[in-house]
Amino acid sequence: MLLSGGIDSATALYLTKRTHGVRALTFEYHGIARRELESARAIASRAGVAEHRLVSLPDLREAADIPGFKLGSLPPTYIPLRNSIFYAFAASMAEETGAVSIVGGHNRDDMKVFDDVSSEFFTAQQAAFRAGSPVLRRNRVHIVRPLRLKNKAEVVALAGRLNVPLEVTWSCHKDGREHCWGCPGCVSRRESFARAGIADPLALTGEKIT
Ligand SMILES: [Zn+2]
Repeated sequence: MLLSGGIDSATALYLTKRTHGVRALTFEYHGIARRELESARAIASRAGVAEHRLVSLPDLREAADIPGFKLGSLPPTYIPLRNSIFYAFAASMAEETGAVSIVGGHNRDDMKVFDDVSSEFFTAQQAAFRAGSPVLRRNRVHIVRPLRLKNKAEVVALAGRLNVPLEVTWSCHKDGREHCWGCPGCVSRRESFARAGIADPLALTGEKIT
């Protein structure tokens, strides 16, 4: 299970843990908000995962931190081919632990923006992993994206039904003790809760991680 501190992966985790034992994998890339890592730890702890592994990738940077990177239509938070790297680590962990599924919390909105979240990409990745590992081939390992048909607001609504601890999630692109409520991540969070008709607990609790 690929776990960030965000609502999407937390929701995918809570959906998956109803039927499977879960190990979580979080990536510490260059410049990631410390609060996002704290949130990932808190979510993994609350969910009771069997293992939460933190992988340090200090050379992996967001496009905004790469001098001269041509963004085109991509957002500055884009990390070049991040999912080819993240899922390779997850596949390695799946081979090591005997996992039968690799789960990512990508939603439908993500698929409109990033090619490395497309069905074409994941079909090819899954085939490559099976080709490269007798264990993954024997286990018929699958890459699973349970939120791929839902937009962000629908994910928030599902999170509410699953009792995901939304109060410990982190959506802000900046670091700090509180969400800034002005960056694209915060704006998207606010809009998604409003469309889902759910009160954001962070607005009520002062964003304390417990
Ligand atoms: Zn923000």
